Amino acid sequence: MRLSDIGEFGLIRRFSPPFLRNLPAGVVGIGDDCAVLPWKGNAHLLVTTDMLIEDIHFIRVKAAPRDLGYKSLAVNLSDIAAMGGTPRSAFLSIGVPSDINVEWLDEFFRGIEGLARAENVRLLGGDTTKSPGPLVINIGVLGGVHPARVKYRSGAKPGNIISVTGFLGDSGAGLRVLIENRPLKGDEKYLVRQHHRPRAHLAEGAWLAAKEGVTAMMDVSDGIDSDLRRIMERSGCGASVDLEDLPLSAPLKRAAIKYGWNPFETAASGGEDYCLLAIVRPDRFGKIAAAFGRKFGRPLSKIGVITRVHEGLKYRLGGKPVTLKRHGFDHFG
Ligand SMILES: [Mg+2]
Repeated sequence: MRLSDIGEFGLIRRFSPPFLRNLPAGVVGIGDDCAVLPWKGNAHLLVTTDMLIEDIHFIRVKAAPRDLGYKSLAVNLSDIAAMGGTPRSAFLSIGVPSDINVEWLDEFFRGIEGLARAENVRLLGGDTTKSPGPLVINIGVLGGVHPARVKYRSGAKPGNIISVTGFLGDSGAGLRVLIENRPLKGDEKYLVRQHHRPRAHLAEGAWLAAKEGVTAMMDVSDGIDSDLRRIMERSGCGASVDLEDLPLSAPLKRAAIKYGWNPFETAASGGEDYCLLAIVRPDRFGKIAAAFGRKFGRPLSKIGVITRVHEGLKYRLGGKPVTLKRHGFDHFG
């Protein structure tokens, strides 16, 4: 059997059952944005790890080393944000090919250091090795969250509102700008910057986690088309998304017209936006969205509604059902 036959998530479903059996009370293992370990009375420990491999996750000649360092840490902080937690410490393992020099690595570490300082995270260790092939970067992050506030992917219920904390599609469009070698003018520059320097929504995650009406959260890493399926799987539900409600930035709208991209497909399947998907009870959504707008000066955008499991994932445009041609990222797909 080939890996492409079962896909990334099929693989995880295949190997994970023995590791999910007999977990100690309160421990959450494989299947959420972070593992959760009860630690002390007023805090759960959060653990997450993410790997970036050259030519799969990034093209080395197209990314400044400082941006790459920044992003390697940011994608992990985003998983802590998705649980409503606060990141504390990081560990870095790196496999370095022989054509990378010390000055390149200096810049890479400056990128990590800048974000670590801004978010009060300490790099405490890791491993360095030579790589006979591509550059390989793995960062693990530990964080903390109050046990009453931790949010999982598993709490969504039919009728709940699906919302996002930021624009969708900018990062995917930025990657497309790079791959299609588009000239880097104003809009293109903005989109590429969103791709290279995503912001983990830590403040938004912690704020939403304190709200009782928020039933589930995760970060947008593979695109909502893929990420919503993870929530559906964990929560045992379906989802219906109104494509015209996906929040699109003005640069993405203009670039989509200019290059003939479908902005809805870019927004739903582009991935790497690293904003948060927040699932909210309908009776609480109005109040929470209004307070979110006052607090962050940006909307908490409603994009759809959680449905029953047999309805699967459905998209609508102008009230009519539509199908997407591109789907969220799957490593072995
Ligand atoms: Mg995640």
